[in-house]
Amino acid sequence: MQDLDKLCIHTVTTKPWSVEIAVENYARCGVSGITVWRDALANRDPATVGRSIRDAGLQVVSLCRGGFFPSVDANARARALEDNLCAIDEAAALGAPLIVLVCGADPGQPLADSRAQIAEGILAAAGRAREAGVKLAIEPLHPMYADAKSAVNTMQSANDMCDQIDLPNVGVAVDVYHIWWDPNAIGEIARCGAAERIFAFHVCDWRVPTRDFLLDRALMGEGCIDIPHFRNAVEQAGFTGFNEVEIFSTHYWSTDQSSYLQKIIQAYKEHV
Ligand code: ZN
Repeated sequence: MQDLDKLCIHTVTTKPWSVEIAVENYARCGVSGITVWRDALANRDPATVGRSIRDAGLQVVSLCRGGFFPSVDANARARALEDNLCAIDEAAALGAPLIVLVCGADPGQPLADSRAQIAEGILAAAGRAREAGVKLAIEPLHPMYADAKSAVNTMQSANDMCDQIDLPNVGVAVDVYHIWWDPNAIGEIARCGAAERIFAFHVCDWRVPTRDFLLDRALMGEGCIDIPHFRNAVEQAGFTGFNEVEIFSTHYWSTDQSSYLQKIIQAYKEHV
């Protein structure tokens, strides 16, 4: 059993709640941090939301998400960069020290081309991020998403890209859902930590069998991921930040969110 001072929850995890309701309930239940998804900020002033989060006693851990840099169409790439610059401004106003990047991929071109465009996009955005005091975290995504969501699919690929970009405010978000299957993941976590590039740690579980490959993530302890093994690895590698619960689940979104929050807290205490 453990206390909740490193527990962060992503707003998308309790998607039926507005950010205001989520903040109120997370704070009341002793959750310590919140990662805000950009859709939760729609029609709101990010600075006001950030203040209300801090007033409730929660820490803003990150803003999700930027990225989606690659495209065969140069205009689309320019629009993506513009959107990432907006995300950086939003993060700064919100008081979020980090933006998580779902890097993107275009199935109309080779993955290598998408990777080159990702590195180009991150480099183009990194200066504004540095001025705003915002870090950027490349989140390697499970290879089942390599078609259209991310051409960065392993910790090794994320580390290689960070080496190539070589900026202190560009690192990696380690999400167990995406990397648990990879025999090189633990070694690459150590490599990432040695370079001081582990910027975030996301948890949920892999349901067996998974019924939907986007929206059927399981609560910690319900699936086959050895989450403490990965938590131990990131902490051994020097990471001292939050354990962020990020669950997309049409099943859980259809249930009562208050009792779901209690389940999240219980699963966190027992399985993270
Ligand atoms: Zn994640």
